[in-house]
Amino acid sequence: EAKQAGKNRYHIFDPSIDQRQHAKQSTLKKIGKALNAGQFVLYYQPQVDCRRGKAVGAEALVRWNHPILGLLGPSEFIPLLEHDDLIVELGEWVIQEASRQLREWLDDGFDLKISVNISARQLHQKEFTQRLRELLAQHGADVVGRLELEIVETAALEDVNAVADAIRACQAMGIGIALDDFGTGFSSLVHLKRLAADILKIDQNFVFGMLDDPGDLAIVEGVIGLAASFRRGVIAEGVESIDHVFMLMGLGCDVMQGYALARPMPAERMPVWLKAFTPDPLWELAGASRPS
Ligand code: C2E
Ligand code: MG
Ligand code: MG
Ligand code: MG
Repeated sequence: EAKQAGKNRYHIFDPSIDQRQHAKQSTLKKIGKALNAGQFVLYYQPQVDCRRGKAVGAEALVRWNHPILGLLGPSEFIPLLEHDDLIVELGEWVIQEASRQLREWLDDGFDLKISVNISARQLHQKEFTQRLRELLAQHGADVVGRLELEIVETAALEDVNAVADAIRACQAMGIGIALDDFGTGFSSLVHLKRLAADILKIDQNFVFGMLDDPGDLAIVEGVIGLAASFRRGVIAEGVESIDHVFMLMGLGCDVMQGYALARPMPAERMPVWLKAFTPDPLWELAGASRPS
């Protein structure tokens, strides 16, 4: 009863809170319906091996193909979902769709990995690895072995022990783990030791900045060095120019991703891109060999 009174008072003093809550619920409902209506699609952005200049994988990036508003990027709907179970539902769809696509590409003779972004809420479900196993069961070991999950570093740091366990469980299944937006979360070296992620993915802001800002360059260099010391792989994202490419090659980065190589593209364009991709001739000049 006291609660009820409190609620009513809320109504009187600040109806806008209630309205906002209502608007949010209605948006969530729309997103749930859109998911069932098949309005979400995955775009893929290629990842290229720095040394060989060869495409080795792609990151799956979700888009909402809205019937009226057109193609919406994740920043327009993921934040709304982050604290709702709908993010788990969407996340499971993403894993399923990316694995189905990967199966198709492997069957067509393309040798590549696919990485998928995982939200913290999804990772912290207690039956996460069990669900993952169920979702992947139909696709075969080669798909599982070429799947990578990206977890943002800041989310991983919220509960290091739980995430460390989830990472190990995924690895036991043959699934690789990358720490996304690495460098923004201030991982201590002890955290890095405990989070046995296979790959550190350097946050794009440091990569953008490294040509002009010595601090950003130091971070990029530092993360590449850390990855080498801890025997992890390292990916740089936000590679926008050939100067970024050369700098990263010089620094000994493993893999690159960014507009200088390719923008995220619909699945049907990937085979065309993969067949056509040859590294810039300048690549050879910088000491890399042509793709085999
Ligand atoms: P992210 O995982 O760090 O993905 C990289 C983002 O940078 C992508 O934006 C990509 O399009 C963009 N990008 C790639 N190369 C460049 C470049 O050279 N320059 C610039 N300026 N940008 C570049 P997008 O697709 O808008 O995704 C944004 C974020 O949304 C992702 O960041 C990821 O955190 C999240 N996200 C995307 N798909 C999913 C998903 O399926 N599930 C979840 N939970 N989150 C997702
Ligand atoms: Mg990512
Ligand atoms: Mg990132
Ligand atoms: Mg990001």
